This record gives sequence, C-alpha cells and structure tokens, in this order.
Amino acid sequence: MSGDELLRLDGVSMQYGRGETAVTALSGVDLTVSRGELVAIMGASGSGKSTLLTVAGGLTPPTSGEVIIEGNWLSQLKPGQLATLRRRSLGFVFQDFNLIPSLTAVENVSLPLELDGWSSKKAHRPALDALGVVELADRADRYPSDLSGGQQQRVAIARAVVGGRSLILADEPTGALDSTTGEVVLRMLRSRVDAGAGGILVTHDSRHAAWADRIVFLRDGRIVDQVQATGVSSLFSGSPA
Ligand code: ADP
Ligand code: MG
Repeated sequence: MSGDELLRLDGVSMQYGRGETAVTALSGVDLTVSRGELVAIMGASGSGKSTLLTVAGGLTPPTSGEVIIEGNWLSQLKPGQLATLRRRSLGFVFQDFNLIPSLTAVENVSLPLELDGWSSKKAHRPALDALGVVELADRADRYPSDLSGGQQQRVAIARAVVGGRSLILADEPTGALDSTTGEVVLRMLRSRVDAGAGGILVTHDSRHAAWADRIVFLRDGRIVDQVQATGVSSLFSGSPA
C-alpha cells in the first residue's frame, strides 16, 4: 500500500443478525482514504453509511473482508492494540454528541488524551487550542448542559481532532445544526485534512459533500458511484455550506 494510505476497506461486507431476519448492510465495499483526503459518503437512509463508518473505525468487525488502518490489519490486532489504535489515530464525530455531562467542555476535549496517558495538565493546552479553532475558547469551563446544541457539536468535533488524530470519521456531523455551526464543523474537518489527516464525512447535503475531494455513493450497502471532486471546495471560496 502507498505511504499516504490511511485507511483501506478490502471487500468489506457486514450482515446484522442471521437467518431469515438477517440484514446485509454492506456488501463487498472497497474504499481507500489517503492523507490529505476528505471523502464524502452519500446515500439514502438505510444504505449502510453509518455501518461503513463504524466498521472503518474498528468499532465493529465486518462479517467478511479486511479493514486496514495505517498499515494495521484490524483483524490481526489484539483488543488492547485495537483500543490503542482507535484512541491515537481515530477521531469520531457522531450526530448525537456523546459529551460527558459531568465534565466541562475543555475536560471533554482533553479526555481522549488523558485516556492515552497524558496528564490532565499536559492535555489542557491542546484541548484549549482545539476549542479555539471551533471558536469556543471562551466556553471552555462550561458544562454541556450550559451549551447550545451547536456549541456541543463543536466541542464534539474539537474532541475528535485533538492531539492530531490521523483519521477523522464524521457521521452527519452537521445534522440538525444551524448553518453557521455546520460551516465551523466543516471548516475544522477540512483544515485537519489539509494538515495531513484523512477524513470520511457522511452527509446527505450535497453542499456539505462539496467540501470533500471525492464523493462516494452508497446504495443497498454497495458503492454505486464515485466522483472525484478535487478542488470543489475552493470553487466555493471556502464556504459552500
Ligand atoms: P444509514 O446510516 O445509511 O442510514 P445504516 O448503516 O444505519 O444506514 O443501516 C444499514 C442497514 O443496516 C439498514 O437496513 C439498517 O436497518 C440495518 N442496521 C443498522 N444497524 C443495525 C443493527 N445494529 N442491527 C440490525 N440492523 C441494523
Ligand atoms: Mg446513518
């Protein structure tokens, strides 16, 4: 594989359940994401987008096929090694923000670093910096319940990218947000990717997909189309959303 390849899905299939009630969520998906590349995934509800992200992020093993992150075959890793890889290399942004209510914004953002062995003192600076990028440095000491939905989502994306994670997986991160927040989130993703990370952005909004370098269309768990969109975001002078 090339040195720039961050993620590869090789013939990935995913089936939920067994027998008559089995659901095939992914079938034979091949996909690579390189450093500096943001890939948008589009497709109808139920087409397998969220499943693709959870499998790509090593949260669920596929029924068949292989997921390779930074050269690591996930099926070959021990659970502890997989957990470490996820913590160090992956950032997830889900539609429901999954913030911890008893931690402040900056503590939520520090958490992945602390789980990886950083002292809370050492984690504080990069966490504050990440909050700064999403324009929330002044809310660092607030609890999630004191923040609007849009602000919570910005905290969640700061947490996903803190410490320079190499692969960012975002599942409709702009879902229910106002367009200003949506744009902050997309800008953050784009700037992390331009700085050398890779990203997958699940979205059903083509204006958001326009921030990506490539758009992949899923239907019934299969990739049915891919469009190279290199440079598209610059056509919109950085603000297609
Ligand atoms: P999308 O994110 O594109 O809406 P999903 O990946 O959530 O698609 O779902 C793909 C298919 O897999 C759907 O038919 C869905 O009902 C099914 N599915 C998703 N998660 C589960 C699960 N945990 N158990 C059983 N079926 C599931
Ligand atoms: Mg989904």
